[in-house]
Amino acid sequence: MARTKLIAANWKMYKTVGEAESFVKALSRSLARLSGCDLVLFPPFTALDRVAHSLAGTRVAMGAQDLSWAPEGAYTGEISGGMIRDAGCSYVLVGHSERRTVIGETDEIVAKKLKAAFAADLIPILCVGEKLPEREAGRAEEVVREQLSAALNGVNPGEAERLVIAYEPVWAIGTGRTATPDDAEEMHSFIRKFIGLSFGRGIGSGLRIQYGGSVKPDNAAQLMGRDDIDGALVGGASLDADSFVAIALSGVPGG
Ligand code: PEP
Repeated sequence: MARTKLIAANWKMYKTVGEAESFVKALSRSLARLSGCDLVLFPPFTALDRVAHSLAGTRVAMGAQDLSWAPEGAYTGEISGGMIRDAGCSYVLVGHSERRTVIGETDEIVAKKLKAAFAADLIPILCVGEKLPEREAGRAEEVVREQLSAALNGVNPGEAERLVIAYEPVWAIGTGRTATPDDAEEMHSFIRKFIGLSFGRGIGSGLRIQYGGSVKPDNAAQLMGRDDIDGALVGGASLDADSFVAIALSGVPGG
């Protein structure tokens, strides 16, 4: 099945509002060349409103980097899925490894956030991936299977149809180390089979699975050239518009 590549920029805790607007201006100049792929920006919360205005009328989507599992209430500092939608987002990252390992989000919290994302009519990008000792012990697939099972418990096929998954080996995020295209493809194919078995083959074959972990302009084409790699979730290399555009061009058929 032909799946349009989805290229995402995760800006993490970088960029002022002004810097975010400048990025969108620079990106806009290249959009005509990028019409063959889908693009989504994940600015910090503080820049969502201005980025939404800057992106109006373009085909670039916007997402938030996190959401609360609660719909509203006395949760100081938290931001709900409904608020994120209201700010103009259509996507949200769920279970990014920095939130799992640095902030301490458990599989249980990730599952609750995934449900909250669906409830708010957002498209969740569910991030999964193993740590280096787990890969070295030959347990990478087992770890990813456990993360998927825990997060998707209670998700129905209608929701699964809207899901995007990002395979992000933890040892590759922000380290300059990238999974080989063969290793990434093997895991993506494993994830697709898992989703197919859980929700039906049609949903498995339609699922977009991004690779993330030190994607750069010089390795993006090799990764996205593989059958089961449907785009990239890009951190560090997405902070510069030229670098992000160069990566996204690798996701354009014939680009
Ligand atoms: C990420 O933030 O999801 C990521 C993959 O970061 P980096 O590209 O910097 O490794």
